[in-house]
Amino acid sequence: MPHGYNGRILRINLSKMEIKTEEPEELIYRKYLGGGGLASYYLLKEMGKGIDPLSPENILIFSTSVICGTLCGGASRFTVAAKSPLTGGFGEAEAGGWWGPELKFAGYDAIIIKGAAKHPVYLWIHDEKAEIRDAKSLWGMVSGEAQLAIRKELADDRVKIAMIGPGGEHLVKYACVINDLRHVNGRTGMGAVMGSKYLKAIAVRGTKKLEVYDQAMVKGTARWVAENYEKQPGSLHDLGTARNILPLNQRGILPTRNFLKGQFEKAEGISGEMMKETILTGRGTCYACPIRCKREVRTEGEDYVAQEYGGPEYETIASFGSLCEVGDLNVISKAHELCQKYTLDTISTGVTIAFAMECYENGLIDGKDTDGIDLHFGDGQAMLAMIKKIAYREGLGNVLAEGVKSAALKIGKGSEKYAQHVKGQEIPLHEPRGKTGLGLAYALSPTGADHNEAPHDPIFEMPGKWLSSIAPLGILEPIESLDLGPQKVRLFVYLQQLFNLYNSIGLCNLVGIPFGPLSLDRLVNYVRAVTGWDTSLWELLKVGERAGGMARTFNIREGFGPADDNLPERFFSPLTNGSMEGARIDPDEFKKAIQNYYQMVGWDPVTGIPIQSKAEELGIGWIKDVI
Ligand code: SF4
Repeated sequence: MPHGYNGRILRINLSKMEIKTEEPEELIYRKYLGGGGLASYYLLKEMGKGIDPLSPENILIFSTSVICGTLCGGASRFTVAAKSPLTGGFGEAEAGGWWGPELKFAGYDAIIIKGAAKHPVYLWIHDEKAEIRDAKSLWGMVSGEAQLAIRKELADDRVKIAMIGPGGEHLVKYACVINDLRHVNGRTGMGAVMGSKYLKAIAVRGTKKLEVYDQAMVKGTARWVAENYEKQPGSLHDLGTARNILPLNQRGILPTRNFLKGQFEKAEGISGEMMKETILTGRGTCYACPIRCKREVRTEGEDYVAQEYGGPEYETIASFGSLCEVGDLNVISKAHELCQKYTLDTISTGVTIAFAMECYENGLIDGKDTDGIDLHFGDGQAMLAMIKKIAYREGLGNVLAEGVKSAALKIGKGSEKYAQHVKGQEIPLHEPRGKTGLGLAYALSPTGADHNEAPHDPIFEMPGKWLSSIAPLGILEPIESLDLGPQKVRLFVYLQQLFNLYNSIGLCNLVGIPFGPLSLDRLVNYVRAVTGWDTSLWELLKVGERAGGMARTFNIREGFGPADDNLPERFFSPLTNGSMEGARIDPDEFKKAIQNYYQMVGWDPVTGIPIQSKAEELGIGWIKDVI
């Protein structure tokens, strides 16, 4: 009898309308844990090379973990993975909420979906049963409408639903998957893969109690987290991730005007503090989490925003705010609500619109292209209009729905220099010219630019609780944010393995260290208490490293190489305002750091391919057959 997990995976073939159950051996769970680790194992083993990401050959995986749904705050996350239609490489996105735990309570640890339906369908999974149901009447609905309709049809308001809206249906390359209208598997276009399979939603409901090995220890850890997270003014609980707006602006690294600038003169107006004073109506949360970092907002008037879609987090505020130079929190909240309804990734949507604004201001596109929309920086209503056009692929929206890399190729006229992406994925709202380790993360993440590849450098540049929290990794001395030497690379290597572990074990990275209270020894003891395995930090970090090696292998198989591990030219050019004005990344130093990274993680310095002896050391020697 497994502890913490069910030992059952659901396999759905939508082309054949077939449902099966698989019971993987314990070794698979222990080696891969769940989330991105488990998903990349199946994607490498079962998907062929070079398939079209929007064809039935793509495999879509929803994967929880061995601790998902247990009592500790943060143990709620699940991964959606597939070949990304945005990058053509490894696609992976995590979300919290209640959907992952509910799937576990329904008796399954993961769902592997193959093929494509002939018409819209949704999955209904409940207490060890699964059905494929007709969704023709749901197709075209925004997320809120579809959730209401499914709950009505199933006569149960407590059903948890992961779904797509019109963005996913129209195959917008950065469409996301949303659950409970506010928790989002945002990046790499997993919503478009759902849309390509005519899969509108996956509704889950379960009543099963998860067995754990040591209930007292599990409860004790959950209680400890609840008693030890930060609650004071300015904390995550108090201001959410929007607490970052003002400190980053002051430091000169708040991405502004499509990454030309690092300071936004209207930053006060879009800050977490301003949100708290004006439109904040509540603090939302995920399953079992006491931190409650999520926001709920409501606005009145022309840009009325309903509370049911939650509220914008830091990345969304910076994406639609400073990056597009829109200083109105009401408009930003509306943009967030539209993206939740249409299921669009707020980061990619904002960065794509900022790209279009820069093209417009420089005369590369004009009013004829935009159907008369005056797409200047700072015009909030133009931005809102463009979001709708992207979701429904109308006019210029059809070009922007492909992402900035493809849009620049289509527009031409030198617009590539305005397209901020790595491997085709839009750059998130953090400035690598002020934190070089983040530059490495953007360049080396297998999913393209990802701000959650590792925690960011500035918190490790002085002694204190953040640096102390990673002492068990062997990082004992402060390292400067702008350093790009071997010690910075080593820091990034270890932190990347840690965050890959979090993504595989389904732990929120705001609950685990360095940002949250759950220390590494507490995490190890928690995994022991849940599973009964005699595990260690060493074994768990190896899972993170193994997951990274498999994701890299996926990309190598799809033709990616060292030339793709780079940053857009803009970050090698100086910032044009603020306290970091003039700061740039030195391209030669950056190249050297990438080479150092290859050698530290055991990738061939010329080809970037994981070397066979390293793969064997990680217990994935079989990847040679994939490459
Ligand atoms: S810290 Fe925030 S995102 Fe993480 S589990 Fe808690 S509420 Fe969810």
